[in-house]
Amino acid sequence: LDRMRQAVTRTRESLSSRLEGVLALTRTVDESALEDLESALLTSDLGLPTTTAILDQLRDHARRKDIDGGEELRELLKEQIQAILEAPARPIVEPAEPPKVIFLVGVNGTGKTTTTGKLAAWYRAENKSVLLCAADTFRAAAIEQLEVWAGRSGVEMIRSRQGADPAAVLYDAVAAAKARSADILVVDTAGRLHTKSGLMDELEKMRRTAKRLIPEAPHEVLLVMDATTGQNGLQQARLFTEASGVTGIVLTKLDGTAKGGIAVAIARELNLPVRFVGVGEKIGDLLEFDPAAFADSLLS
Ligand code: GDP
Repeated sequence: LDRMRQAVTRTRESLSSRLEGVLALTRTVDESALEDLESALLTSDLGLPTTTAILDQLRDHARRKDIDGGEELRELLKEQIQAILEAPARPIVEPAEPPKVIFLVGVNGTGKTTTTGKLAAWYRAENKSVLLCAADTFRAAAIEQLEVWAGRSGVEMIRSRQGADPAAVLYDAVAAAKARSADILVVDTAGRLHTKSGLMDELEKMRRTAKRLIPEAPHEVLLVMDATTGQNGLQQARLFTEASGVTGIVLTKLDGTAKGGIAVAIARELNLPVRFVGVGEKIGDLLEFDPAAFADSLLS
């Protein structure tokens, strides 16, 4: 909870400075207070549809029963945000037998390779045996970068040379993970957005490749999104979710933005659970996402 609070410091401070007047109200919350709230939520990047949905609920509540001051408004808002974050179904993804195959997808620069490395360490800390697959073979730097992360978390990595077919590397990695009964295989995929259909075809080929060895793989496809890109990132995410069977989101760089409200917009508009958040550049800076802790951290 403390780390989550710290991660959303900038968003919380921005929200609370804009909401100072509203949250300090000691009388019935009126329309002008709700309008202040609306603009504060928009500034924190909840986006128009999500902000409107929250405001509709609050107005509805206010019609039935007065909202008795800023403290009650704060509690209602927290409940709303938590409910939106909890709404997307979390599919059951535990495989009958190991390995569990996890793809990380997303465009370059979002923090995909860093998150792949952090996730390996996260599972190691859960006492799982982990294998990494460097399937972002277009960027030599990505392979080397991941090798450093693998070393840091003491896990083995399956790699190939730059320019090799990513599906071939993946095939080797899935075979190795199976042979060794590794609990988790984390796969860093290519994020080169040269053409939309090119990238999606590539991801589809990766899925087919994994299925040749494990029919229900990949068990999870985590889309890595950069919190600082806000509503643009949401647009980009739609391309991926339409085409590549995304099961959840990793929201990176939450530490560097006052627009952390994007997490709420993601949950509601993509109907996908946020599974992890990135809160810094170090290996331990990946937190499992907890809707209640997030809502609480944002508004307290
Ligand atoms: P990729 O191209 O998507 O694989 O992106 P990288 O993993 O290379 O990351 C791009 C940059 O973002 C690097 O400088 C990372 O250190 C940085 N980064 C990744 N995740 C986070 C995060 O959660 N917080 C912060 N502050 N920086 C991050």
